[in-house]
Amino acid sequence: MFSQNEIVANLYALASKVLQYEDKSLQERAKKLIPLERITIQTERAQREIQAEIKKKQTAEESETHVAELFIFHLMKWFKEEFFTWVDNLDCEKCGGPAVSRGQTLLHAVSQERIEIFYCIVCCVETRFQRYNSISDLLESRRGRCGEWANCFTFLCRALGYQARYIHDLTDHAWTEIYSPTQNRWIHCDPCEVQMDSPLLYEKGWGKKLTYVLAASWEEVQDVTWRYTGDFASTLQRRNLVSEVELMRTILNINKTSNEGVRIAGDLTGRVKSFQRQGERVVQVLDLLRLPNLEGCFSIYGGDRRVLSPDSDNGWVYRDEGRVIRLVIQISARVIASST
Ligand SMILES: [Zn+2]
Repeated sequence: MFSQNEIVANLYALASKVLQYEDKSLQERAKKLIPLERITIQTERAQREIQAEIKKKQTAEESETHVAELFIFHLMKWFKEEFFTWVDNLDCEKCGGPAVSRGQTLLHAVSQERIEIFYCIVCCVETRFQRYNSISDLLESRRGRCGEWANCFTFLCRALGYQARYIHDLTDHAWTEIYSPTQNRWIHCDPCEVQMDSPLLYEKGWGKKLTYVLAASWEEVQDVTWRYTGDFASTLQRRNLVSEVELMRTILNINKTSNEGVRIAGDLTGRVKSFQRQGERVVQVLDLLRLPNLEGCFSIYGGDRRVLSPDSDNGWVYRDEGRVIRLVIQISARVIASST
C-alpha cells in the first residue's frame, strides 16, 4: 500500500512508539519519580523574578508570563542535571577503563531496539549498552543519547498532563514539543540542551541541513520540518526520500489507522480534526488531478496554527499567522471549484 522507504517506515515506527506514553500505570510510576514540589517552587520563584523584572522596566508588553512553559523549563533542567545521563562510549564494566565500540546487534526489527557492544582490550570483556525504546526500561536505566532523552522526557510531560509529542529529526536528533493552550501553539523543548522555544537552534546554531522533522503523539503524526528551518527552498530540495504527496498521504493514513485501530480513549482535539479534514481534502483533489508535476512542489506545513485556505489566484495556500507561506500546490482554483 505504501512505498517502503526510510521515511514511511520511520513514521510508522514513531506512531507506535509514542502510544506507550498513554499507559496510565506507567504515568503514575513516573509521577512518583519527579520532585514535583521542588520544581513547582523553582517555577514560582522564577515567575516572581520575571514579574519583578517586568515591573522594573515598566513595559506593558511581555507582562504575561507563561507558568506552564516555565514549569517545563525547570522540569528539563532537573531531567538533565539529576535524572538522566548522557552516554557516548561506555567504559569497561570490569576495570572502568576505556572500551572500544564493536558495533551493534539489532534486537527487534520493528522497534529498532538494539544493543551496542563495547570491548576492553585490557580485560578482554564486553560491556553492553542496550538502546531502549521502552519507557518502562528507560525509567530504570535513565541513560542514553538524544533518542532516549527525548523519548523519556516527552513521556514525563504526558504523565504530567501536558499535550506533548516526540520529535524525530532524520538528520539524527530528537526532542520534544509541548502544546501551549495559552499561546495556542506548539513549543520546541530540547531536554539534552535545556533549550526552549528556539526552533532554529539546529539550522542556525549547529549548521544542520535539515530534511525531515517528524512529530508523533497518540493523536497524530506530523511533518513539522517547516518550524525548524528558515530556508524552505533548500530544505525542500533535500527532501527526496519520498514525494511530498506520498508523505502527506502516508501521514493521513497513519493518523486514520492509529486513531481507529489502536483505540486510545479520548477525543481528538479540534486542532487535529481540522487538520485531518483539510489534509484529506487536499489528497482528494490531488487524486482527482493526478498531475505528475505536482509531485515535489507540494508540501504540508506543521498542521497546527496554519490554516489551509482557498486562494483565488493560486488554488490553496497555507496562511501562517500573517506570513503567507507560498503556495505549495499549483492547482488552479477553477479545478478545485469544479471538483467539489
Ligand atoms: Zn577493562
